[in-house]
Amino acid sequence: MAEPLGDLTRTHTCGGLRADDVGAEVVLLGWVHRVRDLGGVTFIDIRDRAGVSQVVVRENEALATVAKKLRSEFVVGVSGVVQRRSPETINTKLATGEVEVLAREIRILNEAKTPPFQIAEDSPVSEDVRLKYRYLDLRRTRLQHHIGLRHRVTMAVRRYFDANGFWEIETPILAKSTPEGARDFLVPSRIHAGEFYALPQSPQIFKQILMISGMDRYFQIVRCFRDEDQRADRQLEFTQIDVEMSFARPESVYGVIEPLMQQVFKEIGHEVRPPIRRMPYSEAIARYGSDKPDLRFGLEIRDLSDVFRNAEFRVFKDIIAGGGVVRGFAVPGGNKYSRSQIDVLVDQAKQMGFTGLIWVRPGEPPLSSVKALTEGTLRAALAGASAANEDLLLMAAGPAEGTSKLLGQLRLAIAKKENLLDPEKFEFLWVTEFPLLEYHEEDGRWYAMHHPFTAPLDADIEKLESDPGVVRAKAYDLVLNGSEIGGGSVRIHDAALQSRMFKRLGISDEEAKERFGFFLEALEYGTPPHGGIALGVDRIVAILAGESSIREVIAFPKTANAVDLMAGAPSPVDAKQLRELHLKIQN
Ligand code: ASP
Repeated sequence: MAEPLGDLTRTHTCGGLRADDVGAEVVLLGWVHRVRDLGGVTFIDIRDRAGVSQVVVRENEALATVAKKLRSEFVVGVSGVVQRRSPETINTKLATGEVEVLAREIRILNEAKTPPFQIAEDSPVSEDVRLKYRYLDLRRTRLQHHIGLRHRVTMAVRRYFDANGFWEIETPILAKSTPEGARDFLVPSRIHAGEFYALPQSPQIFKQILMISGMDRYFQIVRCFRDEDQRADRQLEFTQIDVEMSFARPESVYGVIEPLMQQVFKEIGHEVRPPIRRMPYSEAIARYGSDKPDLRFGLEIRDLSDVFRNAEFRVFKDIIAGGGVVRGFAVPGGNKYSRSQIDVLVDQAKQMGFTGLIWVRPGEPPLSSVKALTEGTLRAALAGASAANEDLLLMAAGPAEGTSKLLGQLRLAIAKKENLLDPEKFEFLWVTEFPLLEYHEEDGRWYAMHHPFTAPLDADIEKLESDPGVVRAKAYDLVLNGSEIGGGSVRIHDAALQSRMFKRLGISDEEAKERFGFFLEALEYGTPPHGGIALGVDRIVAILAGESSIREVIAFPKTANAVDLMAGAPSPVDAKQLRELHLKIQN
């Protein structure tokens, strides 16, 4: 039976007692973690978000009777005296492990049903059950730590921006549908039959308008919504640190974000030392086969086309003559791979889409999967890739970008296999000068690689119509250990250039007016040059917490299948609600 809290007032958290507190009268409030009845003595571990304390009931029959009723997850208030544990019961793994509380009173504040799983880190339980009983899952130390870490990160972010003259400004959640990129979540209007609001995919247009309004420096820790088919580690709603600055060049944004990262990583005791490296997109693709290279390890891709341009191997020669490349990288220590290990690698490469993966093993003489290559060519290829005697050279040939990207995937797979992804290392990188546009064969049109408000490099503007594929953007991503943790750009602030951009994207004047008319008009009233970025809070906290899934750092995540298993969303609504919203469900 539940007893009232009465005048029980917490003096310490369950994680806070230390040897210094010996002799103190204390009151702890928390959950029963574990009860051990050893005959004459009962030990009760009680837990709150700060930790666990051991309570002991000794030579007290009335209390022993209460203690007998206790079960895991009962809520209790305990008052008693802190005492030193006997030497053999000291628990050095626990912050409170030197002391215990000799109970004087135990008040059962609430009982609990037997939980579907034990509140412990090693509880064998499926993720679906964890998500259904998220309130219990969140009692686990690890998740409590993650949620606390997330709080500290967002507080550090707010302190930083405040100290640097940024204002936190809220933008609407009920916004206008401007589909471009992902699908919008729509909210039907009751008052305006047949009309809809859209949940924001990002506050992009609003933050740009805030710059037009003279707000100068804006940030917001903001929820964004994208109705995408769920990929492995995506959520329909996610949180961004959204930033916009007036009179900004890309370097101004780097200059604000780098010290921010310094503050954020201090939360786990890691020192980030600006400046963060910068690398143009084209170089990232050529050297690492990725626009978000993981720089914790080498395995750098080298261009070996010169070696093969005039060599005896026809296949390579023809590919190079047709504008293609031969590229490859040395796997450190790969010479020790057995033939069957190499065969597995070649198979893996085939599954990734390689038409052929060619290997060269250094030695006297060097050996290769392509017999037609002479010793001289093999030696030149090994030298070109700076492969040492212990290494194995892997090569592929084809169109430049595609070949590098495949090698990039292989590079990552090998790094994983060889345990080169050091979880203690944090390698940041700015990838800069992304292409402005990308061509989609399916519908034969150009799309903005970032979004349609991104500015081209000044030097490339003239090619917007004549050679759109080569136009570079003032766009950048912040990459950490192979994950994109943020992305942004300097924006188009000139209305005429914005119209040219829409035209290039195949968006007619009427359509642009219909979708973004208010914004295009605003651009004409004195828009300062401006730019910004959005950083992914979920991903950053997951990295800080050492978790591979963002679900581990979100209090109430949805499943990979877009379902809230605890609350049961999405769910049907009743006919009256639908009628009010002027909606009919079509089956
Ligand atoms: N709105 C962009 C995004 O959500 C970020 C930016 O350009 O600032 O990815």
